[in-house]
Amino acid sequence: MSTGMSDVTTKDLIAMFDAIGAMIEANKGHLSELDGVIGDADHGVTMNIGFSAVTEALAALDTSATEPTAVFNIAAKSFLNAVGASSGPLYATAFMRAGAAVKGKASLDREAVVETIGAMAKGIQDRGKATRGEKTMVDAWLPGAEAAEAARDAGQPLEACLAAAAAAAAAGAESTKAMLATKGRASRLGERAIGHVDPGAASAALILATIARTLAPEGPL
Ligand SMILES: [Mg+2]
Repeated sequence: MSTGMSDVTTKDLIAMFDAIGAMIEANKGHLSELDGVIGDADHGVTMNIGFSAVTEALAALDTSATEPTAVFNIAAKSFLNAVGASSGPLYATAFMRAGAAVKGKASLDREAVVETIGAMAKGIQDRGKATRGEKTMVDAWLPGAEAAEAARDAGQPLEACLAAAAAAAAAGAESTKAMLATKGRASRLGERAIGHVDPGAASAALILATIARTLAPEGPL
């Protein structure tokens, strides 16, 4: 198995999760505030608990003896143990699917990274049984994954695929402002939910932006 200079390693993935954890921590208050408008105001806290558990579990790993698939599987298990409901099972499924997508790989090339993002988006969609336009995190994850795939199909380098994913996820999150919620607690609000960004879509956009920033070909950060 060849490892190109720019391929993403286990160490890079752990640095990516660390950066996501820091990003969520920094935006914890903002995300809970968004959730307070249409939900129970706990999204930032919940995501922070989940990613703190992930980074703690990953910090204990021997990176030289751990394959990328194990990083994602450990992330899935620790996220779910820490967050049993709401976003917990969604991100646990995303990371489990990512682990399956990279099984047997010592490092991830452009194709594998784009596949991994697609697998996470699909996992979240399957687990949440949500489609686009329902004012959920799917509205950021799906356009993000599709933009990465389109950039890949156009022959763009990894950095451009990830930048496209981050930009599409941000636009997707913003688009939830105009949507009526049809899923979960927010659906009871009816038209009062209009004008507010969905907190799950907002955190998804932050996650994809952090993935783009950390997995560029030159390596983490
Ligand atoms: Mg909530």
